[in-house]
Amino acid sequence: MNPLSRTRASGASHSAPRTASSDYEVIVVGGGPGGSATATLLAEAGHRVLLLDKASFPRHKACSEYVNPDGARLLRELGVGDEVLDAGAHRMEAMLVHAPGGKRFLADFAGSEPGRAALGLSRYKLDHLLLQRAVAAGVEVRQRAHVRDVLRDRGWVVGVEATVGSVRQTIRARLVVGADGHHSAVTRCLGLDATMRWPRRTGLVAHYRRVTGLDDRGEMHVARHGYAGLAPLEDGLTDVALVADAAAVAARDGTLEHFFEEGLARIPEVETKLSGAERVGGIRGIGPMAHRARRVAGDGFLLVGDAASFLDPFTGEGIYEALRGARLAAPVASAALRAGDTSARALAPYRVARRRAFTAKRQVCWIVQLFVHSPILMDYVTDRLDRRTDLGRTLAGVLGDFRPAQQALSPAFLARLLRP
Ligand SMILES: Cc1cc2nc3c(=O)[nH]c(=O)nc-3n(C[C@H](O)[C@H](O)[C@H](O)COP(=O)(O)OP(=O)(O)OC[C@H]3O[C@@H](n4cnc5c(N)ncnc54)[C@H](O)[C@@H]3O)c2cc1C
Repeated sequence: MNPLSRTRASGASHSAPRTASSDYEVIVVGGGPGGSATATLLAEAGHRVLLLDKASFPRHKACSEYVNPDGARLLRELGVGDEVLDAGAHRMEAMLVHAPGGKRFLADFAGSEPGRAALGLSRYKLDHLLLQRAVAAGVEVRQRAHVRDVLRDRGWVVGVEATVGSVRQTIRARLVVGADGHHSAVTRCLGLDATMRWPRRTGLVAHYRRVTGLDDRGEMHVARHGYAGLAPLEDGLTDVALVADAAAVAARDGTLEHFFEEGLARIPEVETKLSGAERVGGIRGIGPMAHRARRVAGDGFLLVGDAASFLDPFTGEGIYEALRGARLAAPVASAALRAGDTSARALAPYRVARRRAFTAKRQVCWIVQLFVHSPILMDYVTDRLDRRTDLGRTLAGVLGDFRPAQQALSPAFLARLLRP
């Protein structure tokens, strides 16, 4: 019998192709928060996991490096709470949001729920810690391993083609987890990339020393030409981000450096905070940032983190979603592997769990995007949130992912937010 012929298994819609035996039970592509957390949880559930990342760790990543309050809880749950604090993570009990017309609103996490705080830690340190956690859990990690293609057999994902060092390798597994971020090769090779027409923004970030006026909080400054974010990190560093229209970044006259510094200088309060500061290292950027995959699970594969979807950094849940996505994916993947059925049908509960976990918050994020893109509206709601403290605390909890997002979507909440 042809070893590649497909067989039917009772209980499954169709069974995996009978190929040469798999080298691993799971290949995780990408060692960012989503990949490392998924790999850790699957290895701890007893599975043989290989993680491939094209980078060599520690490595930098374009990010504002703010872990939201429930993301901080997930890091503790994953067992790296102490390591993150030992690495110097900066505790932020609140975010101060500045609207273009000068109104301000404090998203007070600790005020919303005592003890809640976000963390600022460079991705250079955070991602390395998470990768080490995966190794400690028994994950086999290969760095400088660039996945070029997804291996398929009659529609099923059965492994990957990767360049490890300069050698092209075929590695097989019963399940491939695409956790390779914004420009995911797994999503692209499976033809699942869906273009998002709006928002189309580019994010630029850099580290600074001697930024003044930030203690136990981060800051967001919305302006007409974009927005800036400031997040205090370890060792006296501050992450400074400028998010601007992708077309404006592409059509700039001068250098990226000039565009970045001039964009920040056009926001007076940011300029003041940066006046005695010094930039450390280069500027990193990604744009346009918004994208999503048309499906997050299929025969032999799952997508987590940015490979599945990302909207915009303003609401600060990317790392949280990557960690939470791992929590949702691992039990479904583990059950599927144990049952010997990694079909789309067996993995479908992951899609359902994601919808339950993320849809309402995503709707809140879309509403916030509308505010951020409309200076008049942003001034208006910022003023209301500042004056109506209970609304502000609800929104802080929703943005921090420790209150149900439905609270900020209720007609009562929206009516009080928009009422003069
Ligand atoms: C400008 C900007 C600011 C942001 N600010 C914040 C913030 O403050 N807080 C927040 O929570 N989120 C923020 N985000 C979003 C956050 O960075 C992501 O949501 C998060 O990194 C997703 O994690 P991940 O594990 O899915 O992917 P990533 O962290 O992107 O990790 C993907 C990994 O895959 C590897 N990889 C990629 N392609 C391949 C390949 N072909 N083969 C092998 N390996 C590969 C990469 O080297 C990388 O290590 C920001 C994003 C941007 C662009």
